[in-house]
Amino acid sequence: MKELLGGKGANLAEMNLIGVPVPPGFTITTEVCTIFNEQGKDAAFSIIKKEVEDSVAQIEKLTNTKFGDKENPCLVSVRSGARASMPGMMDTILNLGLNDQAVEGITIKSGNPRFVWDSYRRFVQMYGDVVLGLKPVNKEDIDPFEEIIEHLKEEKGITSDQDFTTDDLKTLVARFKDAVKSKTGHDFPTDPWEQLWGAVGAVFESWMNDRAILYRKLENIPAEWGTAVNVQAMVFGNMGETSATGVAFTRDAGTGENIFNGEYLINAQGEDVVAGIRTPQQITLEGSKRWAELQGISEAERASKYPSLEESMPVLYKQLYDTQLKLQNHYKDMQDIEFTIQEGKLWMLQTRNGKRTGAAMVKIAMDMMDEGMIDEKTALKRVEAAKLDELLHPVFDKNALKTVKVMAKGLPASPGAATGRIVFFADEAKKYEASILVRIETSPEDLEGMHSAQGILTARGGMTSHAAVVARGMGKCCVSGAGGISIDYKNRTLTMSGKTYAEGEWISLNGSTGEIYDDKVATEAPSMSGDFGKLMDLAEKFTRMDVRTNADTPEDAKRARSFGAKGIGLCRTEHMFFEGERIKAMREMILASTTAGREKALAKLLPYQRADFEGILEAMAGYGVTIRLLDPPLHEFVPHQLATQKELAKEMGISLEEVKSKVDELEEFNPMLGHRGCRLGNTYPEITVMQARAIIEAALNLKAKGVDARPEIMVPLVGTIKELQMQTDLINATAQKVFAEKGDSIKYLVGTMIEVPRAAVTADEIATAAEFFSFGTNDLTQMTFGYSRDDAGKFLPVYIDKGILKYDPFQVLDQVGVGQLIKMGVEKGRNVKPNLKVGICGEHGGEPSSVKFCDSVGMNYVSCSPFRVPIARLAAAQANIEK
Ligand code: ADP
Ligand code: MG
Ligand code: MG
Repeated sequence: MKELLGGKGANLAEMNLIGVPVPPGFTITTEVCTIFNEQGKDAAFSIIKKEVEDSVAQIEKLTNTKFGDKENPCLVSVRSGARASMPGMMDTILNLGLNDQAVEGITIKSGNPRFVWDSYRRFVQMYGDVVLGLKPVNKEDIDPFEEIIEHLKEEKGITSDQDFTTDDLKTLVARFKDAVKSKTGHDFPTDPWEQLWGAVGAVFESWMNDRAILYRKLENIPAEWGTAVNVQAMVFGNMGETSATGVAFTRDAGTGENIFNGEYLINAQGEDVVAGIRTPQQITLEGSKRWAELQGISEAERASKYPSLEESMPVLYKQLYDTQLKLQNHYKDMQDIEFTIQEGKLWMLQTRNGKRTGAAMVKIAMDMMDEGMIDEKTALKRVEAAKLDELLHPVFDKNALKTVKVMAKGLPASPGAATGRIVFFADEAKKYEASILVRIETSPEDLEGMHSAQGILTARGGMTSHAAVVARGMGKCCVSGAGGISIDYKNRTLTMSGKTYAEGEWISLNGSTGEIYDDKVATEAPSMSGDFGKLMDLAEKFTRMDVRTNADTPEDAKRARSFGAKGIGLCRTEHMFFEGERIKAMREMILASTTAGREKALAKLLPYQRADFEGILEAMAGYGVTIRLLDPPLHEFVPHQLATQKELAKEMGISLEEVKSKVDELEEFNPMLGHRGCRLGNTYPEITVMQARAIIEAALNLKAKGVDARPEIMVPLVGTIKELQMQTDLINATAQKVFAEKGDSIKYLVGTMIEVPRAAVTADEIATAAEFFSFGTNDLTQMTFGYSRDDAGKFLPVYIDKGILKYDPFQVLDQVGVGQLIKMGVEKGRNVKPNLKVGICGEHGGEPSSVKFCDSVGMNYVSCSPFRVPIARLAAAQANIEK
């Protein structure tokens, strides 16, 4: 249904079916949008003309009105609605069908001229903006219609839209129309059919507007989907004191707490609640009290000026409460709902599965499972693995929080800890490494800037404001509606508690409490407790594959272990050569011109390596630790600066010329395809011997201490069986030698990375000399595509923009190409050795879709960086469930 009707249309139809009151309407399908985009407006409209006319007639019949009638006109809204929800990204037009005659008709019918003119001015404003293109030109400019409104307010000496009289509203309509005429050269359209087709076209076109395109890119929504258009009879929240409009969530979208919450406004329409023009009121009494406390508003003032819906319209509140429960039970997920009350009658205008933060996502899934609403497998599938990333970001250091200076308070719109430099415009958010976007309010145009900022602070707008909803969707820290701050866009300053901050100055936001802190505040690593821990236990129950980590240090290994890693899939040894004294010995080894000279230098390195291996094997005791032998080209280790070259020459007692010529000699045209990986170990076997010795000795030392060390020695960049066989022979001979020396032995494995395409293709041969395979998908992708990883940044973004590639293959495994090599490698390897252990250690091991692929080809484990371990664990469990 959603494919054709879009999310909004499908859910409107479904609400109607389950007996929730929805104004009558119809939906033009997404297919028409595709025709519109591919063949143009005329082609699309000629196909649907008759059906649209018939459907409008249906609405007329149900509402007992007539489209375009003078006395009893039918008014409709024209609403966009894609398959996946894209809140606020595309356009909606309300009160369509109004013109000078219709206005008179409804005035007589309703006896409420103010309401009618309020609706009319809204219609001209929205239609003027969306269909006729009257929008601000520059980012500092005010919206042309808002400008007219502001002028009139000044003339009248009033501050709120509420204070406009009917005559003022008439003036606004006239001035709006004048603005349209002078901008477009045409009169504002008075024919309702012309209005309707104009609006339908504009909604289709809005699928291709910049912010919708950007949103799709961020959310990976394909452009082919298109949007549906919903045409629906209007209901009016702006008919006076017994009318209202609002939005609500069946649970807290920030924390996941099981409390109904939302905001509403009496005598208001459409987006008033989220637009930040008036201060929205809370729906529940409890929410209202919490809100007042955060805003520093007294109970007396709250109750008189900002009462909750529960207090102001108790009967309707009860109906709304029951309806939201019914919807949540029906969809079995947290709902984000939009409603309007017209003269004491409740209408639902939208429901959808609500966007939520990572923390809320986990809590809601676990709670609904505990409540028996969904089963364990559904709960696991509900959680979007990549979104767990949010829960793995730093939180404010508890000690640092004791000494912070709280400058102001707003609403805790989206949890998190953010520290950054102030910027005032979305397109400047990238100016600093870490920025906090500070706005009076945000609009859909600000999307990209919100994405790049560390956090978002707004002066206006509630928990359902644009900033709040979008931030929660992105998992970005946000404090909204901080009334106590003042922002000056022109001078680019923010003032709070008497202190004025210029652009570029540091502040911190606490999205969980709504507090705004002076300056930077220290952060600490998060922990995996509560619902998060529970989710991971559940994942454990349903998973087949293990998750290991890529770690080079005991600290990383320990962290990954605390996140549930079972072993190390890749321990790189090269960084171990860089620190302090080691690099000197390493350089000596490289510059030596004889085997004896190299062995002498390697002997110096041995104790360092052994100690490093002891550390890491101990940190992962009880689990396998895959240690990769030296991999990068030697060239990376030699000094390139004159001063260091001189120093080295002195130390080694050779001439500067000799050093220089050796450095030149190591220069390669394509180092990544050059003298590296097992090619080093095969040309300088003494390196492999030293490393194998260090590993085996480390394991034996640990064994003596009672530690269960399980080394797995991995030979990199193998392309032929002989390359591997020679290395395996060296390693085994060295191990035997060490065992004899120590009079003790341990179990160890020798295996290889599969990262050269030839190795995948000849995996049946390679497997004869390997006890395990680990797919090094970074290099395998590089060599399969022939894209240099270090140069791809120049063309990959263009390729993705042009649709040549769907994803960056270095981030998301190319299942069609690289994946086939992996599949073949696994199959061929296991044909020879049925129990061959197989894993992956490229970046892809932490990317959910790639993890699922690894499960499908029967890998034993995936390995990824410590902070991605929980993501991979969940994806692994999901892969197993979905099979
Ligand atoms: P979005 O996709 O941006 O949420 P909507 O199509 O939901 O846009 O429209 C925005 C708002 O306009 C709704 O929340 C609702 O308040 C109002 N609205 C839309 N259709 C109607 C209608 N038929 N009657 C009254 N209000 C409507
Ligand atoms: Mg909506
Ligand atoms: Mg590699």
